[in-house]
Amino acid sequence: MKIITKIKDINEISIALREEKNRIGFVPTMGYLHKGHISLIEKSKKHCTKTILSIFVNPAQFGPEEDFKKYPRDIKRDIKMAEEAGVDYIFNPDVREMYKADHKTFVEIRDLKDIMCGKFRPAHFDGVCTIVLKLFNIIRPHRAYFGQKDYQQLAIIKKMVKDLNIGIEIIGCPIIREPDGLALSSRNKYLSHEERASAIIIYKSLRAAAEYIKGHKNKYGETISANKFFSKEKIKIQGKNIKDQGLKEFQSEIINKILEDKNISKVDYFEFRDSNNLEEIKNPGIFYSNQPNGKILIAAAVWIGDTRLIDNIVI
Ligand code: AMP
Repeated sequence: MKIITKIKDINEISIALREEKNRIGFVPTMGYLHKGHISLIEKSKKHCTKTILSIFVNPAQFGPEEDFKKYPRDIKRDIKMAEEAGVDYIFNPDVREMYKADHKTFVEIRDLKDIMCGKFRPAHFDGVCTIVLKLFNIIRPHRAYFGQKDYQQLAIIKKMVKDLNIGIEIIGCPIIREPDGLALSSRNKYLSHEERASAIIIYKSLRAAAEYIKGHKNKYGETISANKFFSKEKIKIQGKNIKDQGLKEFQSEIINKILEDKNISKVDYFEFRDSNNLEEIKNPGIFYSNQPNGKILIAAAVWIGDTRLIDNIVI
């Protein structure tokens, strides 16, 4: 495995790999690798003959008050994990290599960047799209692998690739979770012991919402209870007669229940959207009757103390 820090060098390597008829798989990350990242590398190794991993904490996707400076970094550990996973090249540039002092160009995906996480992190997706497009242009992979954990990011990257005729295949990969259901994230490192215990409430509430929707889909109008999905009684949602209402009431009830945990400081959003175009779903019954094969994305962003975590389920 080779570690490359200069754009010119990885660019030349990539051109040579293409000339040798390799299929190049690319896995962009911000490092502090975990099994979620490794699962993307494994997918790439399965489909492609060479795998390039980038490790770059991208300042352009962090707001001024956000955690760019304290974002966890451990390049030695990352190198070891990447090598064990069979990565061929790590691209690990520094900030000045990627953004010259006179950098002026940013990529904006209208509308999609203003909802969900974008509502709370205004410049975030401009930063994500800009760095991903730069990396695509530098590395020119055949395929690029992204986690469904960042569902909105994946949807936005797919849109950018389509709109700008980028010609790279984007592969979405399933969310890897801890045994108790917490989605793996580099930011889980910020959590205290107590906060870690509380963090499971995100997945539990998504599961409860999924069961609520499933009940809605299968037996339209039936009253169901989400209680049974919460073993520690942290959340108690009484069943609603969903025939007569949209999701608003369920949504605010579940948010209130999440907030009852003293370690939860804020719920940025807990939303139901069309997994295809991220349009808001107000009534799942109407959604399913219009699109019997449609899938609903249930996505949440929750603050545990000072740590903002996101997760989702698609049903
Ligand atoms: P990050 O380093 O957090 O920017 O993530 C790099 C890539 O890994 C993104 O495509 C993420 O969606 C993906 N990823 C992060 N966490 C997970 C996870 N738990 N399961 C699957 N993919 C993940």
